Amino acid sequence: MYTFSDIIGQDLIISHMQQAISSNKVSHAYIIEGEIGMGKKLLANTFSKTLQCEKHGIEPCDTCESCLNFNHSNHPDIEYVIASNKTGYGVSDIREQVNNTLHIKPYSSQYKIYIIDQADSLTNQSQNALLKTIEEPPSYGIIILLVANSQNLLATILSRCVKITVNSVAKPLILSYLKDREGLSEYDANIYASFSRGNIGKAMQLYQDESFKEMREFLIDIFDKIISKDTIGLLTAAKKMESYKDKINIIFDIMLSWLRDLMVLKTTKGEKYLIHLDKYKTLLKQSGYMSYNRISVLIERIEETKSNFRLHANFQLSFETLLLI
Ligand SMILES: [Zn+2]
Repeated sequence: MYTFSDIIGQDLIISHMQQAISSNKVSHAYIIEGEIGMGKKLLANTFSKTLQCEKHGIEPCDTCESCLNFNHSNHPDIEYVIASNKTGYGVSDIREQVNNTLHIKPYSSQYKIYIIDQADSLTNQSQNALLKTIEEPPSYGIIILLVANSQNLLATILSRCVKITVNSVAKPLILSYLKDREGLSEYDANIYASFSRGNIGKAMQLYQDESFKEMREFLIDIFDKIISKDTIGLLTAAKKMESYKDKINIIFDIMLSWLRDLMVLKTTKGEKYLIHLDKYKTLLKQSGYMSYNRISVLIERIEETKSNFRLHANFQLSFETLLLI
């Protein structure tokens, strides 16, 4: 756990971090930017563990006292700054947890590392408090800010930090991760890798979310209703859609991927490129009832609804209009 070799698909970042360690050119402040689930915390933790390892290699040794302390979540020189307020970090959090403790030398390691997760929620005042520390850090001090969007930080902070952007991971890498490390079946791995948009955390979250499977069944059934022109069934479905309101993007994604699978079957008859491979029989049946044109029109309409969709739109009405073609 927490070794660079365990991290999937972030080779550039890893080589940057390892190079900084081996050439002893570690910066005093980093920003790691990426959406939730992309592995920002994993990278920050692995970097910190390796920096503190007593063997000073480019991978943590997992046997020294520092590595063992880290593995027991009990490292005296790696601090996780905590926001005392639900809405984010206040200036007192930064003063008390960072500014007032940084001058105390590391207890046993080479560095004293502070990790600030969700640093997007630092108020301007707390960023200004942090700025002083970032400007004149002691030689052993390292501050790592994890953010979804670095534009939420002040330009003065941005200009003093090394920014690392976590990129999306290629689908085949996610696919093999889900199969080999998480033990998912080929079918499941294929679905969740396709929906992850290059985000392993998102793939895992969808896999663990029972409502994803439920939603998929519900949406597949909607296409059966469209084929059989079951108007009453579609009106009921449009109403039920409301309960999935907070998962609207996934709803559109499932519908679009299903229609694309229908299109693939129409044009190639092959299974190779299907996302919903586990539903091959249903796909084949539905594709027999829908013309190429009908599928294209549906894809266009869903894409149109997706791009025009506003959070406060009349949900039921939008779906009634969409489904009752
Ligand atoms: Zn070690």
